[in-house]
Amino acid sequence: MVSKVVFGRGSFTQLGEILAPMRLNERAPFIFLVDDVFEHNAVLLAKIPLLYNDQIIFISAKEEPKTSQVDNLVNDIILGSSILPSGIIGIGGGTLLDLAKAVALMLTNNGSSEDFQGWDLIKNKGIYHVGIPTISGTGAEVSRTTILTGPTMKLGLNSDFTPFDQVILDPELTEGVPKDQWFYTGMDCYIHCVESLTGKYINTFSKTYGETAFDLCKEIFLGNLDSNEIQDKLMMASWHGGMSIAYSQVGVAHAMSYGLSFLLGTKHGVGNCVVFDHLEAFYPDGVKLFKAMKAKHNITLPQGLCANLTDQQFDIMIDVALSLEPLWENAIGNDWKTKITRTLLKDLYSKM
Ligand code: NAD
Ligand code: ZN
Repeated sequence: MVSKVVFGRGSFTQLGEILAPMRLNERAPFIFLVDDVFEHNAVLLAKIPLLYNDQIIFISAKEEPKTSQVDNLVNDIILGSSILPSGIIGIGGGTLLDLAKAVALMLTNNGSSEDFQGWDLIKNKGIYHVGIPTISGTGAEVSRTTILTGPTMKLGLNSDFTPFDQVILDPELTEGVPKDQWFYTGMDCYIHCVESLTGKYINTFSKTYGETAFDLCKEIFLGNLDSNEIQDKLMMASWHGGMSIAYSQVGVAHAMSYGLSFLLGTKHGVGNCVVFDHLEAFYPDGVKLFKAMKAKHNITLPQGLCANLTDQQFDIMIDVALSLEPLWENAIGNDWKTKITRTLLKDLYSKM
């Protein structure tokens, strides 16, 4: 679990006092990995408490994190300073949060991050790392994984060392998220809840978080809340949805969305929505509610993503999706291999 968390509108201004006791010495900088959408946001940048050799690195969230990107960042940080940093602070959405977690881990684990894609392969504690979400839904701020696309697979560095040491949840930071993106990333949270609550791995611990997040999503996406309430509640839904899947598992939408993302670079939130829209057979109630949310917010999902793919490309997506065995086992049960065929997946992908 995340060791420390603060929540509240404006809590981002506490960053300086939170970091101060964690500084190792004046030569060991804090490195801030910041979504480049904020590169010209003077108000936000003024609140980043830079001292000594602290450094801001702006990173685009246009593409999802890659193992090569993590390795390059780690090399640059090591080359740029004679000693390890005091900490890594990620400011942004799931993309920046995952990069911050991965860089903090790879600074203390030798090798390429692609060698650590999997479960519990990380052997050494990472350096101090802080997550500050600026868009809500993924649960990356609370999870024990950092999802990376490598040369052969899209898979996280799942480990007990992965969760942040500190998270700052300031809903005001989500002001300015474009409407479509707000919906896609928010639906990631909703889909986490549906997949967790209907899965075979569900247990009372996970269910408590999942139900809370699910109810919050219904209020947020189908109710009549004001914009501050929406920001506050979606940030808490994201947290609880993330906690729910951390102690259970996701399912069919995520497995298939990873295939889209690996082959086509489709981003997580929108990819999940594109897939989930076709999953009535697996999640009838969840998909019905999803369609109502989509209609209420006038969201038009991308169409025809798979229209011109070759058989070989379909095979790549199907291989990636089927490789995520725990997700299928959670969604369908131990006998999933007898029920989920390549033909079924190809038919579904063909509709997207
Ligand atoms: P994101 O970080 O990719 O950002 C989406 C877009 O929103 C970007 O263009 C970004 O610049 C913009 N944005 C972010 N905050 C903004 C703000 N306040 N104002 C204006 N624009 C803003 O989006 P995401 O959906 O949060 O993250 C997706 C990533 O999260 C994927 O890489 C996915 O694999 C990962 N993920 C991780 C976990 C986990 O447990 N580690 C779980 C789910 C998803
Ligand atoms: Zn997700």
